[in-house]
Amino acid sequence: MPTRLDVFIDRMVSQRACLDFAIAETAQMTGPVYELGLGNGRTYHHMREKIEGRHIYVFERKVESHPDSTPPEELTVLGDVMETLPAILVRFGPVASLIHADLGGHNLQKNDAFARKVSPLIEPMLAPGGIMVSSDRMYFETLEELPLPPGAVPGRCFLYRR
Ligand code: SAM
Repeated sequence: MPTRLDVFIDRMVSQRACLDFAIAETAQMTGPVYELGLGNGRTYHHMREKIEGRHIYVFERKVESHPDSTPPEELTVLGDVMETLPAILVRFGPVASLIHADLGGHNLQKNDAFARKVSPLIEPMLAPGGIMVSSDRMYFETLEELPLPPGAVPGRCFLYRR
């Protein structure tokens, strides 16, 4: 039986492996990157350091990140993603090259229920060829689930492509 520490470590290692894979796969794309859930800002910081030439928009209810991992105001979309995702889709269209979602907390049932609700809002935002990385299984109708890259632990991270 994996301990909570095991699960946490597997999640972190998987996030990095999946993000690195998705960043490399979409490197030739020019559309923006969306970080859904800033939290402490660790995954945002990783993406900011590794992604060149693309804006990273951060969607968060309330910014409480580490000072080194705080996005500029003009790239911060404040509010509940259930409202901000549809608004940004109207503004920008289906242009995202990469979307990373880490919106969940400790309650796995709640995370799954939220993933079902938010999936149809995320699905139309990706550009053709764009990749979505998620800490929770998503419920998409048109995106293809991709095999995990080496180093990622099954069930701790999920990858989808338009
Ligand atoms: N990936 C981050 C990191 O590496 O530090 C951690 C993200 S943390 C697990 C989840 C974040 O998602 C929280 O900061 C929370 O406020 C945000 N969040 C959860 N549900 C949200 C919603 N409906 N709208 C906007 N932000 C939300």
